[in-house]
Amino acid sequence: MRKKEFAVIGLGRFGGSICQELSREGMEVLAIDRDEEKVNQFKHIASHAVIADSTDETTLKELGIKNIDHVIVAIGDNIQASILTTVVLVELGVQRITVKAQNDYHAKILHKIGAHQVVHPERDMGRRIAHSIISNNIVDYLELSDDHSIVEVKAGKKMTGKSIIELDIRAKFGCTVVAIKQGRDINVSPTPDDILTENDILVVVGADKDIARFERQLV
Ligand code: ATP
Ligand code: ATP
Ligand code: CA
Repeated sequence: MRKKEFAVIGLGRFGGSICQELSREGMEVLAIDRDEEKVNQFKHIASHAVIADSTDETTLKELGIKNIDHVIVAIGDNIQASILTTVVLVELGVQRITVKAQNDYHAKILHKIGAHQVVHPERDMGRRIAHSIISNNIVDYLELSDDHSIVEVKAGKKMTGKSIIELDIRAKFGCTVVAIKQGRDINVSPTPDDILTENDILVVVGADKDIARFERQLV
C-alpha cells in the first residue's frame, strides 16, 4: 500500500506542531510557509519544506498538492489567506482538507466553501483547561458536539467505596460511565456493581448540562 502523504500549510506554533508530530510518526509531510525562516526550521524535520504563498493557485498546482491525501491549513491570523487557500484546495479536488479556524464566523465560511474538517485548537484547549481547573479531579475533557462531551474524572471521596448503581449516576445525572481506567488498565464495559476505588478514573459521556451537574455534585 502507498504511504499516505500530508501537507501542512502555515508553520506557526499549531501547524509546526502538527508537522513535527506527523514527521516523528514517520509520515511523509510537505511543509509549506511563505516565510523563509519558518521553512528553514522545518527543512530537517519534514520530508520536504518549501517557501510558497498558498493563496497562489499556480504554485500549489506545481507542488502537486492535488495528489496529497490530506492537507492541513494552519494559517491563523490572516483569515483571508486561510479562506483563499482553502478555496484553491477544494477547487483542485484535494481528498481531505482540515483547516484551523480563528473564530466561529471563519469556521462557518470554511464549512461553506468545502473544508472537510474545521478545528479550533485555542478554543478547545481553553475549554479543556477550564474544565480541568474547575476541579482537581477532572483530568480531561473532550467535546463531542455542541452540547455533548466526554470527561475523565478521578473518583473523589464521594465516589470511592461505592458502586455505580449506588451512586445512581445515570438516573441522577443522565450521564453514562463508559469506562473506568486504573493506571494502564482500562475496563471498557463497567458493570453497575463495580466498586470504585481511590485511583480510578471514570470516563463519563453525556449532555454538557448533565455533566456540569455531575461535576458539581460528585466530583
Ligand atoms: P500559531 O499557530 O502560532 O498560533 P497563528 O494562528 O497565529 O499561528 P499565523 O502566525 O498568522 O497564525 O500564521 C501561521 C503561519 O502561516 C506563519 O508562519 C505564516 O508565515 C504562514 N502563512 C500565513 N499566510 C500564508 C500564506 N498565504 N502562504 C503560506 N504561508 C502563510
Ligand atoms: P491567542 O490565544 O489568540 O493565540 P496569543 O497567544 O496570540 O493569543 P495575544 O493575542 O498576544 O496572545 O494576547 C492575548 C491577550 O492578552 C490579548 O487580548 C491581549 O490584549 C492580552 N494582553 C497582552 N499583554 C497583556 C498585559 N500585559 N496585560 C493584560 N492583558 C494583556
Ligand atoms: Ca495564535
